[in-house]
Amino acid sequence: MNNANLLFDNRFVTALPGDAETGPRRREVLGAAWSQVTPTPVAAPVLLAHSPEVAALLGFDEAMLRSPEFAEVFGGNALYEGMRPWAANYGGHQFGHWAGQLGDGRAISLGELIADGRRWELQLKGAGPTPYSRGADGRAVLRSSIREFLCSEAMHHLGVPTTRALSLVATGEAVVRDMFYDGHPQAEPGAVVCRVAPSFIRFGTFELPASRGDVALLRQLAEFCIARDFPELAAAGEQRFVQWFELICTRTAVMVAHWLRVGFVHGVMNTDNMSVLGLTIDYGPYGWVENYDPEWTPNTTDAQGRRYRFGTQMQVAYWNLVRLAQALSPLFEDAAPLQAGLDAFRERFAVEERAALVAKLGLGEFRDGDELLMEQFRELLHEGEMDMTLAFRALAEVDPAAPAVAPLEEAFYSPGKREQVLPALQDWLQRYGQRVLAAGQSVAARRRAMQAANPRYVLRNWLAQEAIDRAEQGDFAGITDLLEVMRHPYDDQPGREAYARKRPEWARERAGCSMLSCSS
Ligand code: AMP
Ligand code: MG
Repeated sequence: MNNANLLFDNRFVTALPGDAETGPRRREVLGAAWSQVTPTPVAAPVLLAHSPEVAALLGFDEAMLRSPEFAEVFGGNALYEGMRPWAANYGGHQFGHWAGQLGDGRAISLGELIADGRRWELQLKGAGPTPYSRGADGRAVLRSSIREFLCSEAMHHLGVPTTRALSLVATGEAVVRDMFYDGHPQAEPGAVVCRVAPSFIRFGTFELPASRGDVALLRQLAEFCIARDFPELAAAGEQRFVQWFELICTRTAVMVAHWLRVGFVHGVMNTDNMSVLGLTIDYGPYGWVENYDPEWTPNTTDAQGRRYRFGTQMQVAYWNLVRLAQALSPLFEDAAPLQAGLDAFRERFAVEERAALVAKLGLGEFRDGDELLMEQFRELLHEGEMDMTLAFRALAEVDPAAPAVAPLEEAFYSPGKREQVLPALQDWLQRYGQRVLAAGQSVAARRRAMQAANPRYVLRNWLAQEAIDRAEQGDFAGITDLLEVMRHPYDDQPGREAYARKRPEWARERAGCSMLSCSS
């Protein structure tokens, strides 16, 4: 399809070795970073939602978004001139075990668009089988596509590094899924999301050639990634790899610190789902902490081991970086710089965590004892079964000269638990008030800092589920309404209080709200 305004560069396929075979036949792909494959056409593509910010980044105007060609291209039925679709080859550690070749099983990149001097890879998720589909259909259901579309944009507006989403297109076709792998497959509506990021290169991109002893490809991938995705790195020779690994480590630290700040649980932190740019990637069975619980994971596939629970995401990120370090080790003379990168991860995480602590509690600057103050507050949130988002947001309303529980009342889920922690909470609030007074900030400055770190609105699991329920009935307005709210998560939005409510009782054990599987 002709669109003279779009400039595609597609360096991934022009600079890196590709698979000699084309098409989706399932296979082991050796010595190549990608396979040529085209999206499988769908029956009736309809644009359900788009992100205005991402459209603007890409230079897509209203007329283009509304044109029938847009839904055709972003549903997988047509290509704009200059697009050259491929599926990337990568491996990964899944739930602690090396899984071998994985690759883009249901993602197909369309091209790298150059817009306003920046490079954006456009990638369809759910566009049909690729050589990496491993017997699965390469499709995505509407519910998980809505979740990915909304969450990547919500995360961006929260200030969390993430891949973006341009569009959500219904395919007009059914997809069969067994949501809980319990022998009850169901036909569900299908959809395709167009994800957008400067790069979708993952830790597993390097792990795969390393696992095969293909050092030439490993080196080529590393050099490519540095040249394309880290142009700021100026050093030469091995020193460039050293700086690069350290940057991957520190960006990962920043990303995970943000997750902990806003209450996000990724749910499947396998190394194939870790971006080397430190972007949150692959929104599957993710969730948002409501009643505060560091042990919580929304992923039922992980219910046994609970490997990817909220409170251990920093440790898992470190474990994943160690896997990456091992994969990259053939490029290094000795292990010291790799260890230095891993140490930089810990250091950067500590710095970010402290900054988040100071901002979330409104303390002005860090002092001895602040970590304990935060830890005790978190314990109270846990024991008192309090809503994380509501509780932190409400802290800004606590008067340090006369600290009372009142602003926090709405955060409780259970009157019994409230009763239980009330004396300890009152005691904590006294100490908190004194610490705030000692900081000597103005009321306005403190509130401003706190409100910028403690969102009022997050993409609560049940909010997304409500939009999904409506969409499955043919009413798509819930998706755009929710996106609209999530564009300004730190602002109090009059008339939209319902989106800031704590989880209603119906959602406590409902599938899609507290329980999600990888099946999507
Ligand atoms: P995920 O847990 O979503 O990151 O997926 C792990 C691997 O399984 C990736 O290589 C995916 O591409 C692949 N995969 C997941 N779902 C499908 C599907 N419906 N069709 C083909 N491949 C899939
Ligand atoms: Mg994945």
